Amino acid sequence: MTPLPTQGRSKTEVLDTMQAARDKDVRWREGRVFSLVFNAGDEVSDVLKDAYTLFFSENGLNPTAFPSLKKFETEVVAMVAALLGGDANAVGNMTTGGTESLLMAVLTAREYARAVKSHITAPDMVLPASAHPAFEKAAHYFGVKSIRVPVRADFRADVAAMEQAITPNTILMVGSAPSYPQGVVDPIRELAQAALRHNVLFHTDACVGGMLLPFVRKLGYPVPDFDFSIPGVTSISADLHKYGYAAKGASVILYRNSDLRRHQYFAYTDWSGGIYVSPSMTGTRPGGPIAAAWALLNYLGEAGYLKLTDQVMQTVIKLRDGINAIDGLRVLSDPEMSVMAIGSESLDVYEVGDELTARGWHLDRQQFPPSLHLTVSPYHATVADAFLGDLGEAAAKARKPTLRKVTNRVMVKAANVAAKTLPEKWVSRLTSKTSSLVGASGDGLPQRSAAMYGLIGTLPNRGDLREMVIDLLDQLTK
Ligand SMILES: *Cc1c(COP(=O)(O)O)cnc(C)c1O
Repeated sequence: MTPLPTQGRSKTEVLDTMQAARDKDVRWREGRVFSLVFNAGDEVSDVLKDAYTLFFSENGLNPTAFPSLKKFETEVVAMVAALLGGDANAVGNMTTGGTESLLMAVLTAREYARAVKSHITAPDMVLPASAHPAFEKAAHYFGVKSIRVPVRADFRADVAAMEQAITPNTILMVGSAPSYPQGVVDPIRELAQAALRHNVLFHTDACVGGMLLPFVRKLGYPVPDFDFSIPGVTSISADLHKYGYAAKGASVILYRNSDLRRHQYFAYTDWSGGIYVSPSMTGTRPGGPIAAAWALLNYLGEAGYLKLTDQVMQTVIKLRDGINAIDGLRVLSDPEMSVMAIGSESLDVYEVGDELTARGWHLDRQQFPPSLHLTVSPYHATVADAFLGDLGEAAAKARKPTLRKVTNRVMVKAANVAAKTLPEKWVSRLTSKTSSLVGASGDGLPQRSAAMYGLIGTLPNRGDLREMVIDLLDQLTK
């Protein structure tokens, strides 16, 4: 229990404590992390910090009070819309991130259907299995059923299967450009055509690709169409706090026209506090992220983004070729940009991941199939060679049999048999046991997680797994 201190502490003391608290954080400044932080270097950070601080206290909730923020937001949206094939009718809003943008896309589709297809009482949406979990969150929050369709062998959406999955209640279809797990762009043109045939809205989730693919294409790499240039695409999300390199808390949700966007807005006119209108999920809207995004788009301009994209793609090519040259490892499928997954047919990639952790690298573990996630930032240019060296060592180590690996395998087998035969409640209790078995310290994530990932990837009852991870989250934040 941490009570509020009776007396305040000095600013130096407070900040020193905070610096110390960072000790165990992932070392993103050294390029050791391949997700979560998009590092474009100190020059970019400095611009962001100055702009953010300038609008630190402003609130975008009321645009008439702060025409400055309204100008920034309108111009940011217009710039992103122009990059993504929007014409003069395209509109949008800034949100706090990809999740909020996707929540808005789903809400808008539901409200639009309520208005124009009032016979639909149990709305559903059709999406590829690879689509981001934020869509499930939207489904959960807004009472829309999610119909997930398995992807093709190359991890791209299966157009025929998705079209078949459309029901009379379908209000929205989704494709990713690219998907987060394997970084491949879905066949958006064909998907959007199918949506159009069935008179259903279509959302392109370009959260991670929206601020990179246009520049990747301009540099001459092949990029399939994914934006408003395709007739059936009715909304697009693009995160500024990913490849826009903006400060966190910045994304854009775009609509083909304002008739659609109207359905996103919320208004309450009967409040004693006055008439309340709000475009998105949040009430108070921090000025910092809006201001910083505007500042950076103007600071970098097209030339700046092209330069950073070139740096990213050069690094991607080096990493991709380097990974494919390591015995037992390969990049899954043929990703169009800078997001990829390292998989293996012969090695336990989770074991490779643990060996990388031991060497100070942080790569997220993925499943179906097991893989390690890489999102490449400009800064990774400086560490690509060192990373490939350590990855080669990690793979060599993972090839050697050890007692621990045998124990892991036995444990996974045993737990799976147990999960099939024991009562449901038992499995949630497994969490603490699993974390102690794989060496979790009391205050952090497990250092060696291969066993845990092996276990959760194969659990037959996904409901138990849900309980397990929610328990884990609960414990981590206690
Ligand atoms: C990151 C991402 C999201 C979610 O964005 P957040 O900013 O993390 O909320 C959604 N879709 C894709 C494809 C993403 O990469």
